[in-house]
Amino acid sequence: MIQIKTAHEIELMRASGLVTAGALKAVRAAVRPGVTTGELDAIAEDHIRSAGAVPNFLGYHGFTGTICASINDEVVHGIPNPDRTLAEGDNISIDCGAILQGWHSDSAITVSVGTPSAADVALLEVTERSMWAGLAKAVAGGRLTDISHAVEESITAHEHRYGIVDHYGGHGIGTEMHQDPHVLNYGRQGRGPKLVPGLALAIEPMVTVGDPATVELDDGWTVVTKDGSRAAHFEHSVAITPEGPWVLTAEDGGLAGLAPFGVTPRS
Ligand code: MG
Ligand code: MG
Repeated sequence: MIQIKTAHEIELMRASGLVTAGALKAVRAAVRPGVTTGELDAIAEDHIRSAGAVPNFLGYHGFTGTICASINDEVVHGIPNPDRTLAEGDNISIDCGAILQGWHSDSAITVSVGTPSAADVALLEVTERSMWAGLAKAVAGGRLTDISHAVEESITAHEHRYGIVDHYGGHGIGTEMHQDPHVLNYGRQGRGPKLVPGLALAIEPMVTVGDPATVELDDGWTVVTKDGSRAAHFEHSVAITPEGPWVLTAEDGGLAGLAPFGVTPRS
């Protein structure tokens, strides 16, 4: 069932989104060689709880972290660990979410540790841009797979053949973190549910340098690429409003990220 929110409920989701945005900003600022993913997790949890919110990942099906911390060939769902130290040249994807007044938010960034290689710079840029291409299609009157198609087109436009991770994707979000509909990161446009004001979605491309096939590790969580190639993951929660997309987990509501697509977010 797709949950359609009132304008007031979307405002509450925005407040939740800003908590998650702040948590990710604090974690990003702490990423450096020598820091552990356990320390990053604590920074996120402190930020969320100081804002009067609750981490939504913590305890989710038994997950033990506030963030997912996925390094290099780990695609998503890496478990924060006080013994796991970041090194120069690593990439870390940090996925995080909060519940404020019952409303969920969900967002992810991938950050390079120290000075990245040209290949890592490109991987992160391609992945983040594809997320914005999808967010730019979160407009009333469209269909769900317009978003999926835009994400895919953005990734496949590059000379290097990046992989798009199958099966995992975005989702509806609201009074629960994961709601209908599932949002694939590929597909033909013009299909699926109609995009209407009050629909809120998390859009989250997962892109690999090599083959997109993945396996889950024995810890029951961490998803890695089968071929060991590096992956990146970016995510924002967005609401469809009569005035355009409102990127709930972006501090500026999506103003800068949507601009290259000629889309102005709700302000
Ligand atoms: Mg997420
Ligand atoms: Mg998500």
